[in-house]
Amino acid sequence: MSPHTVASLIGSRRRDTLVAQLRCTTSDTATVIAPFSGQPLHELPQSSTRDVRDAAASARTAQRAWRNAGFAYRRRVLLRAHDLLLERQEELLDLLQTESGKTRGQAFEEIFQAASITRYYAVSAERVLATKRRRAGIPLLMSTRVSYSPKQLIGVVTPWNYPIALGAMDIVPALAAGSAVIQKIDNQGALSMLATREAYIDAGVPAAVWPILAGPGNQVGNAVVDAADYICFTGSTPTGTKVGKRAAGRLIGASLELGGKNPLLVLGDADPIQAAEDAVYACFASMGQLCVSIERIYVHKSIEAEFTRAFAERVKALSQTSALDYSGDVGSLTSQAQLERVQAHVEDAVTKGATVVAGGIPRPDLGPYFYAPTGLTGVTAEMECFANETFGPVVAITSVDSDTDAINRANDTEFGLNASIFSGSIAHARRLADRLDAGSVNINEGYRSSFSSVDAPMGGMKHSGLGRRNGPEGILRFVQSRTVSQSNGILQLPRSGAEFAAMAGLMVTLLTVLKVLRRR
Ligand code: NAD
Repeated sequence: MSPHTVASLIGSRRRDTLVAQLRCTTSDTATVIAPFSGQPLHELPQSSTRDVRDAAASARTAQRAWRNAGFAYRRRVLLRAHDLLLERQEELLDLLQTESGKTRGQAFEEIFQAASITRYYAVSAERVLATKRRRAGIPLLMSTRVSYSPKQLIGVVTPWNYPIALGAMDIVPALAAGSAVIQKIDNQGALSMLATREAYIDAGVPAAVWPILAGPGNQVGNAVVDAADYICFTGSTPTGTKVGKRAAGRLIGASLELGGKNPLLVLGDADPIQAAEDAVYACFASMGQLCVSIERIYVHKSIEAEFTRAFAERVKALSQTSALDYSGDVGSLTSQAQLERVQAHVEDAVTKGATVVAGGIPRPDLGPYFYAPTGLTGVTAEMECFANETFGPVVAITSVDSDTDAINRANDTEFGLNASIFSGSIAHARRLADRLDAGSVNINEGYRSSFSSVDAPMGGMKHSGLGRRNGPEGILRFVQSRTVSQSNGILQLPRSGAEFAAMAGLMVTLLTVLKVLRRR
């Protein structure tokens, strides 16, 4: 039996237990393909819009007890979930690899991220959402506090590429805040996400507080937007734009984590060999099917030849496998559609004059969707891969004359998700970082430095998104603030023309003094 069938992987019974978590009353199914073999992995039940409405209603009811249970209770539950994720990592890693085609190392990054996020919000939610004093309008006469109430139901729509990590980055803070969550998963990462949800339910999250559904985006996804009080969407820019418009029509907030065309700058003072080693990982982790991975490299002309040579050598030495262990450096693309997109971008670039310095070919000898990680030079504006997201293992290397040239080219895009700078001087790199139009900038790293910094906001500028996940920002999305302000009874505020006439002079003096004292 192939090691990549669901029967050999987890057994049919276990698969049925996982799938039984789906809210689904239809007999519809979708065939999920295993990327490593190209063969059907299993038939996944598909939910209906009615299932979404029913799940939303029971989640709203269950949310009240979850909210009232308090932060200390939710903290204990989430910290237990953290431990279960780590205890169950081997099964989670097998599922992630089998559903996505990524290597075990890149699958492990997902588990690490989900556990980090869970610990972070378990221990920080109460502090971030505690009632806080604010400056009152008139000192002494008034006092003002701000408190927070969780939104009742958060909709979460997740893609196939990083199902566990990206799901956790939205779901965990919502649960920590005391909200319920209704999630629509992508069919391709469904088993991974279902096994993850099971860990949180076993840890004590009530099942009704987190209903999970699968089905077509334009039906089940739309129904989730229509049912929720706030929507978190991760996926492509075209779909995210539709989701944002639909959310606006309902006057609910949205965080949209969308596509990128992420640049990496190698400055003239960088070590070209070291930069090449690190850039390879930044471009080809998960075969470039990662929103923050690098698709454009701008390298200073003084080290361009040395960098490109080292980069190409390193790419050619990558070990590409479907092994369910840590032996491989890179894996497979996830689907036929991904393979076709990557092939089309490379063929178009080569036809229009680009040079392949590494890769550029499919690898059917390894598996149906394998493609060799690819470096291109001579990529120009008329080529498909110049400005459009490939979302695959294809990077364009371009020589630049100066820092300003590199910054201008890096910013010359409709996207603004992630960027990276390699330099021999952190101070030099930091100065340039502030000139990049990107929601995250990594220095001497591709994406992992900012991605793993769960206390710092993550999100995109321009068409890469709206809103931020992670950090305090990532949980404040899910609450509504309430300002409670009181009169302290020290002095009566004016209520009549005569009282205003008596007090206006005093108020002007007060305003003048507050300004002199630079009081907020
Ligand atoms: P996609 O937009 O096709 O689908 C994403 C999810 O949205 C899927 O679950 C899909 O079923 C659902 N969906 C589709 N139509 C919908 C609709 N009308 N309403 C609601 N949901 C709908 O994206 P994809 O191809 O699965 O993912 C790849 C894209 O995601 C890339 O562009 C990548 O850059 C982006 N991405 C961004 C981030 C980030 O954090 N910024 C992370 C991962 C992926």
